[in-house]
Amino acid sequence: MANDLIVVCGAGGFIGGHLVKALIGQRPVRAVDIKPLNEWFQVFPEAENLVLDLQLKQNCIQAARGAGTIYNLAADMGGMGFIESNKALCMLSVLINTHLLQAAKDRGVRRFFFSSSACAYNVDKQKSPSVVPLKETDAYPAMPEDGYGWEKLFSERMCRHFMEDFGIETRVARYHNVYGPHGTFDGGREKAPAAICRKVIAAKLSGSRSIEIWGDGSQKRSFTFIDDCIYGTQAILESDIREPINLGSRELVTINELVTIVEEIAGTKLQRRYDPTAPKGVHGRNSDNTMIRELLGWEPNTSLRAGMEGTYRWVHQQMVRDRHLVAAV
Ligand code: NAD
Repeated sequence: MANDLIVVCGAGGFIGGHLVKALIGQRPVRAVDIKPLNEWFQVFPEAENLVLDLQLKQNCIQAARGAGTIYNLAADMGGMGFIESNKALCMLSVLINTHLLQAAKDRGVRRFFFSSSACAYNVDKQKSPSVVPLKETDAYPAMPEDGYGWEKLFSERMCRHFMEDFGIETRVARYHNVYGPHGTFDGGREKAPAAICRKVIAAKLSGSRSIEIWGDGSQKRSFTFIDDCIYGTQAILESDIREPINLGSRELVTINELVTIVEEIAGTKLQRRYDPTAPKGVHGRNSDNTMIRELLGWEPNTSLRAGMEGTYRWVHQQMVRDRHLVAAV
């Protein structure tokens, strides 16, 4: 496989951009995204960069030409605020994975990675205040997050059957809240870690001294640093793991605790305003890492504090550069 071309779909996005960066120098890389090149979070001239809408089958066939491996990270997605009010758009990402799998089959692609999500898990198993970590079997019986989660679960299944029926080695990781530099932090698609960095920085720079928090801040989550996500993604792709597997940190925090971490990094203390009407997702969610420890001898291990320091620094640089973002508290 040494000289195989690797195709990264969704390369203009957060995780895709970091993956291309990691792969360059290892193997030839083709990077594909629907966004114009000047909107990609990271662009690497060493890669072949293509702007294509991968919901269309002919574009998937073009993207897969000569490829040995495809990573599918392309999806119309965002944080809770986006996925709760754009269910149809989220489900339409099914076209991307379906057409990419068909193209992979026709082009003789050997390995295919699909980025699934913890949103594929049964929501009824995420209601307990004690937050039992989700193990891979907890996706069934199926009752995933409406819209976005159903698309992920269906596409996981599609990967499984393309492997069984057509012999493509498919690999599926269920990501748990990935965060880090070079991602969305404003505009409505951002997730909690980047959004909280932005709000704390805006409050600090504008002197407003207060922060709005979605829900009552007691929702519990684990957050996975981008470097762990990229290492795990490549390790899973290269492994023999043929079932969907968790790729997430086990360090569980409430949203209130996440805000405290960011305040400490920023050296500030803000007044908290809670919005009980805002989207807040399930009560609690954590990753059971028994399977990844057993099969890879590794699990995500960057501490939230260390990961958030790098994320905060990057968001701060962007906001100081574009001062108008400070108004978006
Ligand atoms: P992102 O939004 O930053 O990147 C996704 C990219 O896909 C975007 O650049 C977008 O332009 C591109 N895209 C969308 N529609 C396309 C199309 N029709 N054709 C080509 N490209 C298209 O998101 P991300 O955080 O980098 O997530 C990458 C993948 O990981 C997604 O599948 C997402 O669902 C999954 N995931 C992410 C997280 C997370 O916390 N970031 C958690 C679980 C799962």
